[in-house]
Amino acid sequence: MSLKETLLQPKFTEIYVEEGIRTQADSILSHFPNAHIIMIQDYRDVFDRPRQSYSLQHKSQKLILARKKDGFLYPGSPVCQSFGNPYFMYSSCVMNCVYDCSYCFLKGMYPGGNLAVFVNLEDYFDAVEKELQKHSLYLCVSYDADLLSLESILGYGRAWSEFVRKHDNLTIEIRTKGTFDTSWQKMTVSDRTILAFTLSPETVIAKEEKGTPSLSARLAMLQKAMDLGFPVRICFDPVLMCPDQKQAYQDLVEKIATAIDLQKVRDFSLGSFRLSKVYMARMRRQYPDSAVLQYPYVCEKGFYHLPARIETEMTDSIVEALAEHGIGKEKIFFWRES
Ligand code: SF4
Repeated sequence: MSLKETLLQPKFTEIYVEEGIRTQADSILSHFPNAHIIMIQDYRDVFDRPRQSYSLQHKSQKLILARKKDGFLYPGSPVCQSFGNPYFMYSSCVMNCVYDCSYCFLKGMYPGGNLAVFVNLEDYFDAVEKELQKHSLYLCVSYDADLLSLESILGYGRAWSEFVRKHDNLTIEIRTKGTFDTSWQKMTVSDRTILAFTLSPETVIAKEEKGTPSLSARLAMLQKAMDLGFPVRICFDPVLMCPDQKQAYQDLVEKIATAIDLQKVRDFSLGSFRLSKVYMARMRRQYPDSAVLQYPYVCEKGFYHLPARIETEMTDSIVEALAEHGIGKEKIFFWRES
Protein backbone atom coordinates (compact mmCIF):
# COMPACT_ATOMS: atom_id res chain seq x y z
CA MET A 1 0.00 0.00 0.00
CA SER A 2 1.39 3.42 -0.95
CA LEU A 3 1.90 6.14 1.62
CA LYS A 4 -0.97 8.11 0.07
CA GLU A 5 -3.30 5.09 0.26
CA THR A 6 -2.29 4.51 3.86
CA LEU A 7 -2.97 8.12 4.75
CA LEU A 8 -6.35 8.12 3.08
CA GLN A 9 -7.84 4.98 4.58
CA PRO A 10 -11.45 5.44 5.70
CA LYS A 11 -12.05 6.72 9.23
CA PHE A 12 -11.42 4.34 12.12
CA THR A 13 -9.82 1.51 10.14
CA GLU A 14 -7.21 1.58 12.89
CA ILE A 15 -8.24 1.77 16.55
CA TYR A 16 -5.80 2.31 19.38
CA VAL A 17 -6.92 0.86 22.71
CA GLU A 18 -5.24 1.53 26.04
CA GLU A 19 -4.17 -1.52 28.01
CA GLY A 20 -6.64 -2.30 30.81
CA ILE A 21 -9.83 -0.99 29.24
CA ARG A 22 -10.46 -3.71 26.66
CA THR A 23 -13.67 -4.86 28.36
CA GLN A 24 -15.12 -1.35 28.55
CA ALA A 25 -14.08 -0.73 24.97
CA ASP A 26 -15.76 -3.87 23.62
CA SER A 27 -19.18 -2.35 22.94
CA ILE A 28 -17.54 0.45 20.92
CA LEU A 29 -15.23 -1.97 19.11
CA SER A 30 -18.22 -4.12 18.11
CA HIS A 31 -19.15 -1.35 15.65
CA PHE A 32 -15.86 -1.84 13.82
CA PRO A 33 -15.43 -5.58 13.24
CA ASN A 34 -12.83 -5.10 10.50
CA ALA A 35 -10.72 -2.50 12.25
CA HIS A 36 -7.07 -3.17 13.02
CA ILE A 37 -6.74 -2.97 16.82
CA ILE A 38 -3.48 -1.70 18.27
CA MET A 39 -2.93 -1.91 22.02
CA ILE A 40 -1.13 1.05 23.63
CA GLN A 41 0.04 2.03 27.12
CA ASP A 42 -1.24 5.59 27.21
CA TYR A 43 -3.42 7.49 24.74
CA ARG A 44 -1.13 10.49 24.95
CA ASP A 45 1.62 8.49 23.25
CA VAL A 46 -0.55 8.58 20.10
CA PHE A 47 -2.81 11.60 20.54
CA ASP A 48 -0.18 14.03 21.79
CA ARG A 49 2.74 13.01 19.59
CA PRO A 50 4.74 16.02 18.38
CA ARG A 51 4.95 17.02 14.70
CA GLN A 52 1.52 15.70 13.66
CA SER A 53 -0.48 17.25 10.82
CA TYR A 54 -4.05 17.92 11.93
CA SER A 55 -5.31 18.45 8.39
CA LEU A 56 -3.77 15.21 7.01
CA GLN A 57 -4.78 13.08 9.98
CA HIS A 58 -8.34 14.33 9.84
CA LYS A 59 -8.72 12.91 6.32
CA SER A 60 -8.14 9.42 7.75
CA GLN A 61 -8.98 9.69 11.44
CA LYS A 62 -7.89 6.95 13.79
CA LEU A 63 -9.95 6.19 16.86
CA ILE A 64 -8.27 6.11 20.28
CA LEU A 65 -10.06 4.51 23.23
CA ALA A 66 -8.70 5.44 26.60
CA ARG A 67 -9.36 6.01 30.29
CA LYS A 68 -9.36 9.61 31.49
CA LYS A 69 -7.27 9.80 34.62
CA ASP A 70 -8.00 13.33 35.79
CA GLY A 71 -9.41 16.66 34.64
CA PHE A 72 -13.03 15.59 34.25
CA LEU A 73 -14.46 19.12 34.49
CA TYR A 74 -13.15 22.50 33.40
CA PRO A 75 -14.37 26.04 34.08
CA GLY A 76 -16.18 27.60 31.11
CA SER A 77 -13.90 29.49 28.73
CA PRO A 78 -14.21 33.30 28.40
CA VAL A 79 -15.18 32.87 24.71
CA CYS A 80 -18.09 30.59 25.64
CA GLN A 81 -21.46 31.73 26.88
CA SER A 82 -22.67 30.87 30.37
CA PHE A 83 -26.34 31.66 29.55
CA GLY A 84 -26.71 33.45 32.86
CA ASN A 85 -25.63 30.46 34.94
CA PRO A 86 -23.29 31.30 37.85
CA TYR A 87 -21.58 27.89 37.83
CA PHE A 88 -20.66 27.05 34.28
CA MET A 89 -18.30 24.21 33.40
CA TYR A 90 -17.63 21.89 30.53
CA SER A 91 -16.42 18.34 30.24
CA SER A 92 -14.57 16.58 27.53
CA CYS A 93 -15.32 12.86 27.23
CA VAL A 94 -14.48 12.90 23.51
CA MET A 95 -11.61 14.90 22.04
CA ASN A 96 -11.91 15.98 18.42
CA CYS A 97 -14.71 15.72 15.95
CA VAL A 98 -15.70 13.70 12.90
CA TYR A 99 -16.81 16.90 11.19
CA ASP A 100 -14.37 19.31 9.60
CA CYS A 101 -15.43 22.91 10.20
CA SER A 102 -12.73 25.23 8.93
CA TYR A 103 -13.09 27.61 11.88
CA CYS A 104 -13.16 24.94 14.61
CA PHE A 105 -10.93 25.80 17.57
CA LEU A 106 -10.11 22.11 18.03
CA LYS A 107 -7.73 22.46 15.08
CA GLY A 108 -5.71 24.90 17.14
CA MET A 109 -6.15 23.19 20.48
CA TYR A 110 -5.15 19.61 19.73
CA PRO A 111 -1.83 18.48 18.28
CA GLY A 112 -3.43 16.09 15.78
CA GLY A 113 -6.68 15.16 14.08
CA ASN A 114 -7.31 11.72 15.59
CA LEU A 115 -10.37 11.19 17.74
CA ALA A 116 -10.00 10.11 21.38
CA VAL A 117 -12.90 8.67 23.35
CA PHE A 118 -12.75 8.18 27.10
CA VAL A 119 -14.67 5.09 28.14
CA ASN A 120 -14.91 5.79 31.88
CA LEU A 121 -17.97 8.02 31.84
CA GLU A 122 -18.75 6.95 35.43
CA ASP A 123 -15.71 8.93 36.63
CA TYR A 124 -17.10 12.05 34.96
CA PHE A 125 -20.38 11.47 36.75
CA ASP A 126 -18.55 11.15 40.10
CA ALA A 127 -16.79 14.48 39.47
CA VAL A 128 -20.10 16.17 38.63
CA GLU A 129 -21.75 14.78 41.76
CA LYS A 130 -18.96 16.27 43.88
CA GLU A 131 -19.66 19.69 42.32
CA LEU A 132 -23.39 19.28 42.81
CA GLN A 133 -22.88 18.80 46.54
CA LYS A 134 -21.56 22.40 46.61
CA HIS A 135 -23.89 24.16 44.16
CA SER A 136 -26.04 23.73 41.08
CA LEU A 137 -24.20 23.35 37.81
CA TYR A 138 -24.61 24.23 34.17
CA LEU A 139 -22.45 21.85 32.17
CA CYS A 140 -21.63 21.74 28.49
CA VAL A 141 -20.82 18.18 27.52
CA SER A 142 -20.29 18.62 23.81
CA TYR A 143 -17.77 21.43 23.27
CA ASP A 144 -14.70 19.42 22.27
CA ALA A 145 -16.65 17.19 19.87
CA ASP A 146 -20.09 16.86 18.34
CA LEU A 147 -21.17 14.18 20.79
CA LEU A 148 -24.42 13.31 19.04
CA SER A 149 -22.64 12.64 15.76
CA LEU A 150 -21.23 9.57 17.57
CA GLU A 151 -24.41 8.63 19.42
CA SER A 152 -25.06 5.38 17.56
CA ILE A 153 -21.55 4.21 18.54
CA LEU A 154 -21.10 5.68 22.03
CA GLY A 155 -24.57 6.36 23.41
CA TYR A 156 -23.08 9.16 25.55
CA GLY A 157 -26.00 11.51 24.90
CA ARG A 158 -28.29 8.91 26.35
CA ALA A 159 -26.01 8.31 29.35
CA TRP A 160 -25.70 12.01 30.14
CA SER A 161 -29.44 12.60 29.76
CA GLU A 162 -30.20 9.72 32.15
CA PHE A 163 -27.71 11.12 34.64
CA VAL A 164 -29.31 14.58 34.44
CA ARG A 165 -32.72 13.14 35.19
CA LYS A 166 -31.43 11.92 38.55
CA HIS A 167 -29.91 15.28 39.58
CA ASP A 168 -32.27 18.20 40.06
CA ASN A 169 -29.56 20.85 40.26
CA LEU A 170 -27.77 19.85 37.05
CA THR A 171 -28.51 21.33 33.62
CA ILE A 172 -26.55 20.24 30.57
CA GLU A 173 -26.23 21.58 27.06
CA ILE A 174 -25.47 19.17 24.22
CA ARG A 175 -24.48 21.20 21.20
CA THR A 176 -24.71 19.64 17.78
CA LYS A 177 -24.87 20.29 14.09
CA GLY A 178 -27.40 17.49 13.77
CA THR A 179 -26.99 13.81 13.08
CA PHE A 180 -27.95 11.58 10.18
CA ASP A 181 -29.19 8.73 12.37
CA THR A 182 -31.93 8.62 14.97
CA SER A 183 -30.10 6.95 17.87
CA TRP A 184 -30.19 10.25 19.81
CA GLN A 185 -33.97 9.83 20.12
CA LYS A 186 -33.35 7.23 22.85
CA MET A 187 -32.15 10.01 25.15
CA THR A 188 -34.14 10.77 28.29
CA VAL A 189 -36.21 13.91 27.89
CA SER A 190 -35.85 16.50 30.63
CA ASP A 191 -36.21 20.26 30.81
CA ARG A 192 -32.60 20.31 32.00
CA THR A 193 -31.10 18.58 28.96
CA ILE A 194 -30.86 21.32 26.38
CA LEU A 195 -30.21 20.34 22.79
CA ALA A 196 -28.45 23.23 21.10
CA PHE A 197 -28.38 23.33 17.31
CA THR A 198 -25.81 25.38 15.44
CA LEU A 199 -27.46 26.69 12.29
CA SER A 200 -25.69 28.41 9.40
CA PRO A 201 -26.64 29.55 5.89
CA GLU A 202 -26.38 26.77 3.28
CA THR A 203 -23.46 28.55 1.61
CA VAL A 204 -21.54 28.62 4.90
CA ILE A 205 -22.32 24.95 5.57
CA ALA A 206 -21.05 23.97 2.11
CA LYS A 207 -17.86 26.00 2.35
CA GLU A 208 -16.92 26.09 6.02
CA GLU A 209 -18.65 23.14 7.74
CA LYS A 210 -17.46 20.17 5.72
CA GLY A 211 -19.09 16.84 6.42
CA THR A 212 -21.87 18.30 8.56
CA PRO A 213 -25.58 17.70 7.97
CA SER A 214 -27.41 20.07 5.65
CA LEU A 215 -29.56 22.88 7.01
CA SER A 216 -32.74 20.94 6.21
CA ALA A 217 -31.42 17.85 8.05
CA ARG A 218 -30.58 19.98 11.10
CA LEU A 219 -34.01 21.59 11.06
CA ALA A 220 -35.67 18.18 10.81
CA MET A 221 -33.73 17.00 13.86
CA LEU A 222 -34.55 20.20 15.70
CA GLN A 223 -38.25 19.76 15.02
CA LYS A 224 -38.08 16.16 16.20
CA ALA A 225 -36.28 17.23 19.37
CA MET A 226 -39.06 19.74 20.11
CA ASP A 227 -41.72 17.12 19.38
CA LEU A 228 -40.07 14.79 21.88
CA GLY A 229 -40.15 17.53 24.52
CA PHE A 230 -36.48 18.58 24.71
CA PRO A 231 -35.81 22.26 25.31
CA VAL A 232 -33.97 23.44 22.20
CA ARG A 233 -31.55 26.27 21.66
CA ILE A 234 -30.69 27.74 18.28
CA CYS A 235 -27.10 28.92 17.99
CA PHE A 236 -26.02 31.42 15.39
CA ASP A 237 -22.54 30.92 16.58
CA PRO A 238 -20.14 31.54 15.07
CA VAL A 239 -21.65 34.07 12.70
CA LEU A 240 -19.11 34.22 9.89
CA MET A 241 -18.18 36.73 7.24
CA CYS A 242 -19.48 35.48 3.91
CA PRO A 243 -20.62 37.00 0.58
CA ASP A 244 -23.75 39.09 1.06
CA GLN A 245 -23.52 38.26 4.73
CA LYS A 246 -26.49 40.25 6.01
CA GLN A 247 -28.87 38.80 3.43
CA ALA A 248 -27.54 35.25 3.92
CA TYR A 249 -28.31 35.30 7.65
CA GLN A 250 -31.66 37.01 7.20
CA ASP A 251 -32.59 34.31 4.66
CA LEU A 252 -31.47 31.74 7.21
CA VAL A 253 -33.83 33.13 9.83
CA GLU A 254 -36.68 33.06 7.29
CA LYS A 255 -35.95 29.41 6.44
CA ILE A 256 -35.91 28.46 10.11
CA ALA A 257 -39.15 30.34 10.76
CA THR A 258 -40.79 28.54 7.84
CA ALA A 259 -39.68 25.12 9.11
CA ILE A 260 -40.34 25.42 12.85
CA ASP A 261 -42.30 27.47 15.37
CA LEU A 262 -39.71 29.92 16.70
CA GLN A 263 -41.86 30.65 19.75
CA LYS A 264 -41.23 27.10 20.95
CA VAL A 265 -37.46 27.56 20.95
CA ARG A 266 -36.14 27.92 24.51
CA ASP A 267 -33.56 30.56 23.62
CA PHE A 268 -31.06 31.72 21.03
CA SER A 269 -27.32 32.16 21.14
CA LEU A 270 -25.59 34.72 19.00
CA GLY A 271 -21.89 35.34 18.60
CA SER A 272 -19.46 36.24 15.87
CA PHE A 273 -16.30 34.26 15.20
CA ARG A 274 -13.61 34.58 17.89
CA LEU A 275 -10.54 32.52 18.58
CA SER A 276 -7.60 32.54 20.95
CA LYS A 277 -4.39 34.04 19.62
CA VAL A 278 -2.45 30.82 20.20
CA TYR A 279 -4.96 28.64 18.35
CA MET A 280 -5.22 31.13 15.51
CA ALA A 281 -1.46 31.08 14.95
CA ARG A 282 -1.45 27.26 14.71
CA MET A 283 -4.49 27.16 12.44
CA ARG A 284 -3.19 29.82 10.09
CA ARG A 285 0.02 27.79 9.67
CA GLN A 286 -1.94 24.60 8.91
CA TYR A 287 -4.58 26.20 6.67
CA PRO A 288 -2.89 29.05 4.79
CA ASP A 289 -5.67 29.17 2.16
CA SER A 290 -8.59 29.47 4.58
CA ALA A 291 -10.33 32.81 4.04
CA VAL A 292 -12.19 32.49 7.32
CA LEU A 293 -8.90 32.18 9.22
CA GLN A 294 -6.84 34.67 7.26
CA TYR A 295 -9.37 37.50 7.61
CA PRO A 296 -7.73 40.55 9.27
CA TYR A 297 -9.37 40.22 12.67
CA VAL A 298 -8.37 42.41 15.57
CA CYS A 299 -6.54 40.81 18.46
CA GLU A 300 -7.33 41.99 21.98
CA LYS A 301 -6.78 40.39 25.37
CA GLY A 302 -5.43 37.26 23.70
CA PHE A 303 -8.38 36.72 21.34
CA TYR A 304 -8.96 37.45 17.69
CA HIS A 305 -12.38 38.78 16.77
CA LEU A 306 -14.05 41.03 14.26
CA PRO A 307 -13.86 44.79 14.71
CA ALA A 308 -16.69 45.84 17.04
CA ARG A 309 -18.54 47.83 14.37
CA ILE A 310 -18.69 44.88 11.93
CA GLU A 311 -19.54 42.43 14.68
CA THR A 312 -22.40 44.63 15.87
CA GLU A 313 -23.78 45.07 12.34
CA MET A 314 -23.68 41.31 11.76
CA THR A 315 -25.43 40.34 14.94
CA ASP A 316 -27.90 43.24 14.88
CA SER A 317 -29.22 42.15 11.48
CA ILE A 318 -29.99 38.70 12.93
CA VAL A 319 -31.66 40.26 15.97
CA GLU A 320 -33.83 42.35 13.63
CA ALA A 321 -34.76 39.28 11.57
CA LEU A 322 -35.72 37.39 14.74
CA ALA A 323 -37.73 40.39 15.99
CA GLU A 324 -39.85 40.21 12.84
CA HIS A 325 -40.93 36.78 14.07
CA GLY A 326 -41.73 37.98 17.57
CA ILE A 327 -38.47 36.97 19.23
CA GLY A 328 -37.33 39.64 21.68
CA LYS A 329 -33.86 40.25 23.00
CA GLU A 330 -34.76 38.66 26.34
CA LYS A 331 -34.57 35.28 24.59
CA ILE A 332 -31.21 35.97 22.93
CA PHE A 333 -27.87 35.43 24.62
CA PHE A 334 -25.03 37.40 23.08
CA TRP A 335 -21.34 36.93 23.01
CA ARG A 336 -19.77 40.32 22.40
CA GLU A 337 -16.18 41.41 22.90
CA SER A 338 -15.90 43.84 25.78
S1 SF4 B 1 -19.13 20.31 14.52
FE1 SF4 B 1 -18.33 21.63 16.16
S2 SF4 B 1 -16.74 20.42 17.15
FE2 SF4 B 1 -17.16 19.49 15.16
S3 SF4 B 1 -15.67 20.38 13.74
FE3 SF4 B 1 -17.54 21.61 13.63
S4 SF4 B 1 -17.23 23.28 15.12
FE4 SF4 B 1 -15.73 21.66 15.59
